[in-house]
Amino acid sequence: TIQPIESAVELVKGKKTLKDYEAMKLMEIYGIRTPKWGIAESVEEAQRVADSIGYPVVMKISPDEPVHKTEMKGVIVNVEKDQVKDVYNQLSKITKRVMIQEQLNGLEVYVGGLRDPVFGHVVLVGSGGIYVEVLKNVAYGLSPIYEDEAQELLIESKIHDMLTARKRGYDENSLIRTLISVSRMIVDLNVKEMDINPLFVNEKGAFAVDVRIVFD
Ligand code: ADP
Ligand code: MG
Repeated sequence: TIQPIESAVELVKGKKTLKDYEAMKLMEIYGIRTPKWGIAESVEEAQRVADSIGYPVVMKISPDEPVHKTEMKGVIVNVEKDQVKDVYNQLSKITKRVMIQEQLNGLEVYVGGLRDPVFGHVVLVGSGGIYVEVLKNVAYGLSPIYEDEAQELLIESKIHDMLTARKRGYDENSLIRTLISVSRMIVDLNVKEMDINPLFVNEKGAFAVDVRIVFD
């Protein structure tokens, strides 16, 4: 049997939920890519982090507990260098800690995981972004899933069609690898529920942008 990854077990030990930057590190441990990102707790730090990422950046509040950041006016996209100071000052009224990310393009996908009392760990995939509750094209698979099943879930949810529409050349294999990694991670760490929303899929790969994860 495959052993859980020790650094992941260490990272989540004793926690009910992860902060955004912890969740990003957990993704990286499981080989799931993230946009370039950094945390700032002052204007100077925000400018330094944003400069090192490159413009435009996305800036968002970094609360200790998962919240709907957009509803709190806590996500600002398309931030250019001369706006970093004002945006940091605005967001830091909500949370002092602010996350800064590389701004990505591509298809926004929802990847979820949950522990069902009957079926055990389940992995979900569907359309992502802030309309996830509206679109409802979610497909489910029982963990662990492997390549064939991951592929079937993408066809069933129509994500496969969305990725390949108009010959966009989006990297479906990266999304398949992400689904397999998530299905393994939720079992390894006995995750109660989690979602990556969105996972951006583009021609360069699949990137976890916003991760919420809950343990018992
Ligand atoms: P929340 O879901 O808590 O409102 P998100 O971090 O998911 O916050 O951001 C909301 C939306 O903002 C995303 O669905 C996406 O459309 C956009 N967004 C957030 N981060 C990025 C990013 N790094 N690159 C491009 N768009 C982003
Ligand atoms: Mg989100």
